[in-house]
Amino acid sequence: MNASQRNYRVGLVRGPVVTIPRHPDAVDSPTKLLDWAASRGRKRPRAADLFCGAGGLSVGLSEAGYDVVLGVDNDRVALETYAGLHPGLVLCRDLSEREALDEVADLICKLDVEIVAGGPPCQPFSRAGKSKIRSLVQAGIRPEHDNRRDLWRAFLEVVLRARPRAVLLENVPDMAVTSDTAIVRTLVSELEAEGYAVHTALLRACDHGVPQLRNRFFLVALAKGIGFEWPDASGALATVKDAIIDLPPVEGGWRPVAGADGFLPYETPVEPSALVRRARDGLDAEDEHRIYDHITRPVRDDDRVIFESMDSTTRYSDVDESLRRYRADIFDDKYKRLDWDKPSRSITAHIARDGYWYIHPDQTRTLTVREAARLQTFPDRVRFAGPPSAAFRHIGNAVPPLLAEQVASSIREALRRSEPARASSTYLSGCITAWFEHKGDLGLPWLEAPTVWSALQAQLLLRGARSDAVKTAWPTLEKLDSPERTIESVDELRDLALLIGRARRVPQVLGAARWYVENPSDLDTIKTRTRAPRVTPQVAAIAALVDPVIESAPVVVNQGSLRVASRVLGLQVLQQRPGSDGRLAVTRLLAGPSAGRPDDSRTSMAAVLELAATLCKARDPLCSECPLNSKCAWYSSRSAQVQ
Ligand code: SF4
Repeated sequence: MNASQRNYRVGLVRGPVVTIPRHPDAVDSPTKLLDWAASRGRKRPRAADLFCGAGGLSVGLSEAGYDVVLGVDNDRVALETYAGLHPGLVLCRDLSEREALDEVADLICKLDVEIVAGGPPCQPFSRAGKSKIRSLVQAGIRPEHDNRRDLWRAFLEVVLRARPRAVLLENVPDMAVTSDTAIVRTLVSELEAEGYAVHTALLRACDHGVPQLRNRFFLVALAKGIGFEWPDASGALATVKDAIIDLPPVEGGWRPVAGADGFLPYETPVEPSALVRRARDGLDAEDEHRIYDHITRPVRDDDRVIFESMDSTTRYSDVDESLRRYRADIFDDKYKRLDWDKPSRSITAHIARDGYWYIHPDQTRTLTVREAARLQTFPDRVRFAGPPSAAFRHIGNAVPPLLAEQVASSIREALRRSEPARASSTYLSGCITAWFEHKGDLGLPWLEAPTVWSALQAQLLLRGARSDAVKTAWPTLEKLDSPERTIESVDELRDLALLIGRARRVPQVLGAARWYVENPSDLDTIKTRTRAPRVTPQVAAIAALVDPVIESAPVVVNQGSLRVASRVLGLQVLQQRPGSDGRLAVTRLLAGPSAGRPDDSRTSMAAVLELAATLCKARDPLCSECPLNSKCAWYSSRSAQVQ
């Protein structure tokens, strides 16, 4: 079968369409909400959920003791689910519109909520589907700039106007670990400028009892500089078995005869797992022996053969070639049978498309709506409005309620304790920047190189060199400020390299210089600079610190910056995930743009690198001379041990 003969169609998950009655304590206007909230009193602190979707975050907030009185989103079907779960008001609004934003901000101010929570739409940041988005942009089907990318600004504006005691933002990791981390730095600096202590982390849902390999960025901000501890992440891994083993088997495409109100009979196992107990908690008495929404898409005949041949280790390239409809070299993870004894792969909105990433561990079908909801830790009492495809999408976009509950409980505990946070990014970056600007002779003088080329060249020749070698070499290297000049001065370069014991690095420098002479435009951007031999992304990122054309410098994640960040912030795991946790930690030492202040991250990034090279050395750091010592977790624990 050739590609043109292949039929790619996957059966849609048609009907039944679920309709959800509103919560008995729902109100239908802002005025009624204010009256209702006043009559309800304040037995529980109030919360508002922006971009609430179907309400995963709000379910967690409620279970942590919050009264979630307002949910805002522009997806009517998701709001139908939400309105069935929560009392108070749901507003169908697009927060990218000024009028809607003003209305919501004013309402939240009047409600006097303790916490504003939300997850601005994550799809524009998400790596999943990026190539598809690129092709749509190239085809002119989709605009290059997605306005949803800026919804975090709407969230921030509402927060800064309402000034709640606590803020909780959740998003995909890609929001936090972009090259220049500008979004996180802006959020942090603007919130800190208003007196919040800001706490950021990339949390793995599976570390918190969620049976899923789902990583998400969380930001918690607490007013009056209050400190915060992230929930304990040391629990045992929950598995697919823990979440769904109790659910009755069904055929792909099966539908209850009673339509949306139909169900399957259910018996609670004799020894239910903690996740099953949690899922079954809070059901009405009449639903105790029922399972709703246990439906999934029909299975194609060819997929049936494929599914039956797979176990949890099977790659798409292992599937018999005659059965494949997709290219195995590109889509080798196209199909994934889940493993009973491991967490599921992350449940995302993609599950609404074909479900192939979520093939049941031992049945010949993809997951049902209820199974997906269970893996996201939604209780069984939660039903999802609309057709199954909408339910899948809303489940995939949700924050797992169990994770939300843990973070929200930690917020409540932090507010109760009201202990001061250790140090703000604004303070740390201010200290280190002032130190750098007054330092005089630099250990890494190319951090103030006159041109990008001289910074690249110095790193290629001097990276890791002793300080006396750097001092000897820099006055000459500084003058070789273009690739052409370096090539013209090759004899001088060789003599210098010989003198400082770096003769073997000369070919690297000359190789890069020749490349840029032949390809001068490759010197223009960080990305194209790495086309030259030996110019790694790290080398290019450091050189970008002296590039006047780049508005916002990239975050440099290397051994030195990771060492400083992990010591100052008291974090252990940065070396394992440098590109994500490490990048986020280094970001917390950098300045961010805030009202009335330019983005000075370039200087603070250079300062971190200089500190790593001269004071915060791998061995015997010179802490007594360090500008960060009064706030450094490593130094304070060492000092405590000495005493
Ligand atoms: S106080 Fe010491 S350990 Fe901490 S950042 Fe400074 S030099 Fe490094």
